[in-house]
Amino acid sequence: MQSVSAKSILIPNKYPSGWFGIKYTMNLYRGCDIQCIYCDSRSERYGIDDFHNVTVKTNALELLRKELATKRSRESTIGTGSMSDPYTLMERKLQMTRRALEIIAEFRFPVHITTKSDLILRDLDILQHLSRKYASVAVSITTADDELARKLEPHAPSSTERFKTLAELEKIGVVTSMTMMPILPFLEDQSENIDRLVEKAAAAGVKHIIAVFGVTLRDRQRDYFFRKLDEGFPGLSERYKRKFGNAYECRSEREDELMIRFHEVCSRNGISTRMPSYQMPVSNAVQMSLFDE
Ligand code: SF4
Repeated sequence: MQSVSAKSILIPNKYPSGWFGIKYTMNLYRGCDIQCIYCDSRSERYGIDDFHNVTVKTNALELLRKELATKRSRESTIGTGSMSDPYTLMERKLQMTRRALEIIAEFRFPVHITTKSDLILRDLDILQHLSRKYASVAVSITTADDELARKLEPHAPSSTERFKTLAELEKIGVVTSMTMMPILPFLEDQSENIDRLVEKAAAAGVKHIIAVFGVTLRDRQRDYFFRKLDEGFPGLSERYKRKFGNAYECRSEREDELMIRFHEVCSRNGISTRMPSYQMPVSNAVQMSLFDE
């Protein structure tokens, strides 16, 4: 593990009205040891050369306290999990995320967390406390097939474990959602996978799901993805190259059909395809989404 001293920890979000209404993004770690083969954070634009070797920002908690104290409004959502999973394997020992959540609770800010890890269940007590203001968690699941998930997201808990995590969070009143992204072309873009994901989420009590039927690929992240495809799925990288060339956005050829099906199966299960946020109460988000169908 490496360490670094950060200049600031809360980065203002350019588009706070986007998914989850996040106003400030917080990353306590750089890099991620969950090692999803498709992770965009490996691409050159983020400048993280040794992506798998997690770096901890040693002064992050001190900065967080200082920066929160200077905010005039306490109604801005703090989000974490965009560049690195906040429940990276390191977190078990270091507890940076847990301590950051305690500070956010102390200052009474709304919070949103995106993760693939069931380690978040360690922090149910603090999440319950944060829920008095607002706590939302999105768990990312791209396939209902545990064996496939193990190949694509090698150090994440199985998809089955992630559905259990969602059910536990739902029970304590955290606003839960599932992100189905990226749904990889040729590997995960079958109707049966979409149906199973949504139905399992519904059984776990999830109220909100978003899906992206495709993946973005660029520079060294694309190279890494193709190397991993060659190891686990012989011949598939050639298929990607033939179909997408050097394109950044690689959309499933079944995108339109799958999107219709996704909306239908969500609607049947009473699930909203809009994401919740502190500004958009859960009941309104569900109602508006169903109205749109
Ligand atoms: S958990 Fe998220 S940040 Fe970590 S490797 Fe996977 S996609 Fe990237």
